Amino acid sequence: MSEVVCTLWGRAGLDRAAQGVLGAGRRLADSTGAALRAIIVGTADDALASGAQAVADRVVVATGPGLEDYNPESYLAALSDLCKAASATVVLLGNDTYAQEIAARLAHRLGGSAAGDAVAVHAEGGKVRVTRGVYGGKATAVIELEKSPAVVWVRARAIEPADAAGRGAGEVERVTPELPATGVKVLERQEESKGGARLEDAQVIVSGGRGLGGPEPFTELQKLADVMHAQMAASRAACDAGWVPASWQVGQTGKKVAPQLYLAIAISGASQHIMGIADSKVICAINRDADAPIFKHCTFGLVEDYQKVIGPLTERLRSAK
Ligand SMILES: Cc1cc2nc3c(=O)[nH]c(=O)nc-3n(C[C@H](O)[C@H](O)[C@H](O)COP(=O)(O)OP(=O)(O)OC[C@H]3O[C@@H](n4cnc5c(N)ncnc54)[C@H](O)[C@@H]3O)c2cc1C
Repeated sequence: MSEVVCTLWGRAGLDRAAQGVLGAGRRLADSTGAALRAIIVGTADDALASGAQAVADRVVVATGPGLEDYNPESYLAALSDLCKAASATVVLLGNDTYAQEIAARLAHRLGGSAAGDAVAVHAEGGKVRVTRGVYGGKATAVIELEKSPAVVWVRARAIEPADAAGRGAGEVERVTPELPATGVKVLERQEESKGGARLEDAQVIVSGGRGLGGPEPFTELQKLADVMHAQMAASRAACDAGWVPASWQVGQTGKKVAPQLYLAIAISGASQHIMGIADSKVICAINRDADAPIFKHCTFGLVEDYQKVIGPLTERLRSAK
């Protein structure tokens, strides 16, 4: 195994996901005697460049026309060339929406194999093995990737950062890849309105489901979230109903979160929802149905109508401050 590549996005900065990807890459490289290269696509701020430099043996920052903002075709073309130039045997990415869009295609272009949602990556007998949850987290599978390079997107926020900070990688190399004309043109971008930290980085999350019955109760949940300094989230059913923005959706087809506390209110706990919250430290649930699946996944559960709980809980927390 010669070179492990960690792929990072300049736009995202040195967030918890970038630290997790670097941590997974550093440990894999150390255990196999490989070098670790960080490839940052898009302009990197100082924190990201120096954070990557402290962990990786070599850092390449790719910028230039076509890479300022995320464009799947340009990012794919740049990454594919840079991974080939590195003779990468393993390419790690975070499990964000960019990676979910391009990682499998990257593996195909590199003639390798791909696996996603990894909670751990290690090498055995010269092959990369990926550990991931299956059946909505009910079981764990270990998958061996046959073809090299192994392109793996990891549940980065649940993976420990590297403890190798200070190792020092020397110069950061800056490159401007020549990109082919793409058939994709971004017509418009809409920034989601941000109220505090990104959901993926939130430490406390208050999340509501279809059992709330409409958009109005989310106003009550917001008051609770404010007292708890929490971010708001929702199940897909609540988002699909148009009660809250789609960007609040947590789950298999939504955001993957890893807070210290996830409070699920009137959410049944479908496997697709659990896939997005499985990395939470503590899950609490309020549901009036004692048989709701969410109770199999939570640390604390309250069988009760949420309407009897939210107001008094908000008041109690407010007065306790
Ligand atoms: C391919 C695929 C991908 C999917 N991706 C996602 C995803 O990313 N995220 C996601 O969330 N879902 C996803 N889903 C949908 C998922 O299967 C469920 O349909 C969805 O999570 C259900 O949302 P919910 O729990 O809010 O609603 P429901 O399943 O309808 O549950 C509502 C809950 O509220 C409780 N309740 C009702 N009234 C009250 C009350 N007054 N007080 C307390 N509790 C009450 C009920 O007992 C019930 O348990 C996906 C499905 C598919 C097929």
